[in-house]
Amino acid sequence: MRLSFHGADREVTGSCHLLHCAGRRILVDCGLFQGGRELEEENARPFGFDPAEIDILLLTHAHLDHCGRIPLLVKRGFRGEIICTAATRELARLVMLDAAHLQEEEARYRSGKSGRHGHHRHHKSEHHAPESPLYCILDAVNCAEYFGRTAEYGKRLELAPGVAATFFDAGHILGSASILLELSENGHRRRILFSGDIGNAGRPLLRDPVVPHGADAVIMETTYGDRQHRPVDASVTEFYAAVSDALEQGGNVIIPTFALERAQEILYFLHEGVRQKRLPAHLQVFLDSPMAISATEIFEHHPECYEAKTAALFRGGRDPFALPGLHFVREAADSIALSQIRSGALIMAGSGMCTGGRVRHHLKNNLSRSNCGVIFVGYASEGTLARIIIDGADAVRLLGEEVLVKAHVYTINGFSAHADQRELLAWHARTGKPEVTFLVHGEAKAMQAFARSLRHTRVEMPALHQSYDL
Ligand code: ZN
Repeated sequence: MRLSFHGADREVTGSCHLLHCAGRRILVDCGLFQGGRELEEENARPFGFDPAEIDILLLTHAHLDHCGRIPLLVKRGFRGEIICTAATRELARLVMLDAAHLQEEEARYRSGKSGRHGHHRHHKSEHHAPESPLYCILDAVNCAEYFGRTAEYGKRLELAPGVAATFFDAGHILGSASILLELSENGHRRRILFSGDIGNAGRPLLRDPVVPHGADAVIMETTYGDRQHRPVDASVTEFYAAVSDALEQGGNVIIPTFALERAQEILYFLHEGVRQKRLPAHLQVFLDSPMAISATEIFEHHPECYEAKTAALFRGGRDPFALPGLHFVREAADSIALSQIRSGALIMAGSGMCTGGRVRHHLKNNLSRSNCGVIFVGYASEGTLARIIIDGADAVRLLGEEVLVKAHVYTINGFSAHADQRELLAWHARTGKPEVTFLVHGEAKAMQAFARSLRHTRVEMPALHQSYDL
């Protein structure tokens, strides 16, 4: 049996691993590359295998860097079966449609710029023209028919003679999984564990990660392989203080948020804050993101994924997201109308790093007002508008205008959907003593630091398209 890595190396991440065993080809994840290099080009390149030859795609979770190239896979000939949990299936559909929509928009923008507007639609080419999208909405819709069996946590699925898979709750986002493959080929047996992304323990909405024991080979993520998180309780307290302080100034409060997971977590904390009287009872919250609203609705369909206490409350009739003063803003016209509100509104909108989306309009309307607040609740990479504001810029360029930064800026660092170094080590220890551990999905620095702290295993850091015999 042979394992090859087509999604991650030391510079870029985008999960995509291929296992060749007992005459079957099984792909684990098919993510879009994110980070480092010229990514558009990287994403359009050949996969490193023939999509038509893949029998089964096992999907760990619905983040773009794990499912974002599925429409491209189907477009290029994949006709196999996609298997994931019920929640992942719904979320992945949403994430792929959103990605396709963004790519269509970007392609339109690029073709307008290059003066070829209107031509690219009829331009047939074997090559990926820079002004055509990687895939379109129709391609994303087409993926639906390849989603087959639903995986349930802890239930073994026989995929083919000599190939079985079991999904375990990874505690990372709704429906996320680590996947154990039990393989047998000519009397040679192997247990191979793919971590997916590993969540951090002790979060209120999701369960702690479940780790199967006795893997021979482990493929694991190392996003925070060199860092420790602060406890989430301290961050929640800090978040409530920021919300109260910002509202007391008399203006509005903007919270740039990622649509999937972070938005739901923040809604949950706001709801709890009001319920426990740690936040004002009359809080008016506007969730201004069609994507986040849909993701929240999907959360409400899947209480089977919740942490036990939250699940029990939900069954007892308490919806974790049903904050009394919550307004869903789907329509663009309603989003624009929010600019009429000068005071007391808490507006959650994307994107989380302020690189696009509706949040930019709200920042434009509120950033220069000294009685307003902006609360950052997630990671912001170098060069993004969020990072520029966090780093203390006096003025920023926004939608073609120079906007002064006079609003109060708060940064809450402790919210994370990833395990930190200590938790990653504990996770690895629980897998047993695997002969070999492949590190993926982390920056080089984090990966190397993590590799040094691992014991009782051979460590590999595969390059893109590298293969190993197992
Ligand atoms: Zn993830």
